[in-house]
Amino acid sequence: MTLDPQNARPTDKETVLPRSRKVRVLATLGPASDTPEMIATLFQAGADAFRINMSHGDQESKKAVIAAIRSLEERFNRPSTILADLQGPKLRVGKFADGRVTLVTGSTFTLDHDTTPGDATRVRLPHREIFAAIEPGARLLLDDGKLVLRVTDHDADRIVTTVEVGGPLSDNKGLNVPDVVVPMAALTEKDRSDLAFAVDQGVDWIALSFVQRPEDLAEARKLIEGRAALLAKIEKPAAIERLDEIVELCDGVMVARGDLGVELPPQSVPPLQKRIVETARRMGRPVVVATQMLESMIVSPSPTRAEVSDVATAIYDGADAIMLSAESAAGQWPIESVAMMNAIGDAVERDPMHGDRVHFTVTRPDPTTADALAEAAKNIAETVSASAIICFTTSGSTARRISRERPGVPILVLTPSKDTARRLGLLWGTHNVNTRDVESFEEMVAKAKRIALRQGIAKAGDSVIVMAGVPFRTPGSTNVLHVVRIVGDELKDYRGPDAR
Ligand code: PGA
Ligand code: MN
Repeated sequence: MTLDPQNARPTDKETVLPRSRKVRVLATLGPASDTPEMIATLFQAGADAFRINMSHGDQESKKAVIAAIRSLEERFNRPSTILADLQGPKLRVGKFADGRVTLVTGSTFTLDHDTTPGDATRVRLPHREIFAAIEPGARLLLDDGKLVLRVTDHDADRIVTTVEVGGPLSDNKGLNVPDVVVPMAALTEKDRSDLAFAVDQGVDWIALSFVQRPEDLAEARKLIEGRAALLAKIEKPAAIERLDEIVELCDGVMVARGDLGVELPPQSVPPLQKRIVETARRMGRPVVVATQMLESMIVSPSPTRAEVSDVATAIYDGADAIMLSAESAAGQWPIESVAMMNAIGDAVERDPMHGDRVHFTVTRPDPTTADALAEAAKNIAETVSASAIICFTTSGSTARRISRERPGVPILVLTPSKDTARRLGLLWGTHNVNTRDVESFEEMVAKAKRIALRQGIAKAGDSVIVMAGVPFRTPGSTNVLHVVRIVGDELKDYRGPDAR
């Protein structure tokens, strides 16, 4: 699908139907896409959730972007999902006298605290923690790993290195230290301020960059106070070493392939991607595959075949979401990039082998009634050819359990919590509807049928599976699974609160 930006204006509430696609598309907003018109167009082209990168721009300008995303809810009658991505302790070298230098392979290069602009023999490194933590033999990678320094000596005031791979280096370039755990707080001053801002603005997810240890998540959790879900970006070798613990402690993870592929050789990223996706799926945490997915579309209206294949691989692996970075934030073809993600999702999921391949990852239910029912719902849906699994949830936990099972049918999630409906927007296969709470089992079933019909998820004659907790309003009590047939007259004469 190619959309002409001039002719792709949304017209009315009916324009965007529930996506039949199960994988979610997460689009980063930036200068190429952060106007209200573009945000609506990207939504129509297939963006399910939006990422706001706190590394760029000021807080004030993000308010309007957040408001524009939220305005989609009224316009399209669907919850919206916003992820605010904190910059994290991104290390950078200082400035150079001439703005740039060329480091010569084999020469000695020193990092120190001296604020005098640098030259080809030294530069300032404004992160004191590294001077103590570094070890002889460790590598320092500059400018996305293009330049490599090897540490020969160090003390509290300087790190002496040999340039192993030289090249041009300019002001404030990024620095990666893959070989040691840097005792840096996962949240910088800027991150704290950005986190407070984002939570105040009511974003649904906070993403934490450069997570190294499980403890890194604790501080963010405390500051968030339950007002947003927490996503851990896996982009450090240290995080890989304690992956299970980190996944356990967060609500979602991102395979942040950009920095991961700098800290580790690029060829180690694919096996790690599979491992991270599998771990997250096993533990029932949504997982986003990110970075360079359609990189060439930053400047070209069509992707390389290899990029399409990469996106397809993430979908076959059963990732919850696939992400666009510069493609949608700063590229020349943001709409086409989203449309391409959407098209790849549709094509892969139409493949009759898709369901089988997704289940190459075996997820086992926890020994709880709710998990057992989620697994049963998937199996029953297959056996009786039901057209949807419908669940009532307040916290979203039942929806997460069902999504983890990766059923072959849509998951229609009904929740009285607007926040839950929004947060679930990153989850595989869910259609989330914010609706009033129900009082009785009969009311619940009637409502499930009505909304399934109205959302086009089921039609007359179809069976659907309804799951809920009885008695109502007891969190975490999902204990009922009901198979019902939709007759078709469920909407007739209905004038109740959720009629439209
Ligand atoms: P970034 O994170 O775009 O914020 O650096 C993603 C990555 O490193 O892949
Ligand atoms: Mn990164």
